[in-house]
Amino acid sequence: MRIPVSLAIELLNNEKVVGLPTETVYGLAAKASSDEAIKKIFEFKKRPLDNPLILHVSSIDEVKRYLIKDENTFYDLAKAFWPGPLTLVMPVIDKLISPLVRANLPTAAFRMPCHPIPVEIIRSLGPIVMPSANLSGKPSATSYEDVEEDFGEDFPVVDGGRTLKGIESTILVLKEGVWELGRRGSLSLESIEKVLGYSPKPASDKKLVCPGQKYRHYAPKASLILSEKRPDSKIEAVLGFKDKTYPDDLNPLYLSDLNSPAEASKNLYHLLRLLDRRGYQSVWVDMDMPKGGLWDTLRERIQKASS
Ligand code: AMP
Ligand code: MG
Repeated sequence: MRIPVSLAIELLNNEKVVGLPTETVYGLAAKASSDEAIKKIFEFKKRPLDNPLILHVSSIDEVKRYLIKDENTFYDLAKAFWPGPLTLVMPVIDKLISPLVRANLPTAAFRMPCHPIPVEIIRSLGPIVMPSANLSGKPSATSYEDVEEDFGEDFPVVDGGRTLKGIESTILVLKEGVWELGRRGSLSLESIEKVLGYSPKPASDKKLVCPGQKYRHYAPKASLILSEKRPDSKIEAVLGFKDKTYPDDLNPLYLSDLNSPAEASKNLYHLLRLLDRRGYQSVWVDMDMPKGGLWDTLRERIQKASS
């Protein structure tokens, strides 16, 4: 159900959960101070309780009061990329943030979204928590229609059209003064390296720094066959690129051309959901795409969607 921002604010103030657009994907929002609403997020999404939530703020100063230690590189990163698709995980004064948000960890994740709707709401209510507005495991929602598909026609959502980035934020986790990569996302590691002077590495010890990464994600019902060449097995469609030619019988769906990783990111989840709407069982994803930057994020998302 489409609702205006004013009603979203009223519902959030009354311990309710609403769907909101951001520049990355749609989020399922609750007021950070409402444990009652936060519990509903986990129930609606069927999200495991050990998968923590991101706190969304509308200024860098709002984060400061939660931090155990002032970390210069936090300000460098936030000034360079906020508002925007970068989430920063840091040790926090734990009594200030509900254990439900943190999944009982001594750290919390922060992001300032770059979208007028959540920003207006946060300015009015204070920080909100928002995981992606999809049932756990499914591709994230990138439109009002996607949220409705997962949570039903009566679910309150502010419609902001298709999201600009289409893929979640990049997550960095601060470990003993060094930023590690928690999750690839819409912000490339190359841009982060320009600010930090190094490229954040995934945790070396096989220990996951982001608990959410251990779960199945982004997966359509169709089985995806990832290959740089047409597979031998029977397929009903191909997810590929505009500047390549595919046999007509393959019902090509185009992510973008090979020079436009941002457009491919914007379209990925939208197309994964379209495969299911069309009832395809078996789909070839053409993995013959460039390397580096957002292409690496896309490749990783597609691999997760197929596993
Ligand atoms: P989603 O909101 O669905 O995009 O998922 C949020 C991601 O942020 C999940 O993968 C979480 O594991 C990660 N995250 C949130 N809080 C923390 C934290 N305190 N430490 C590590 N990862 C976190
Ligand atoms: Mg998610």
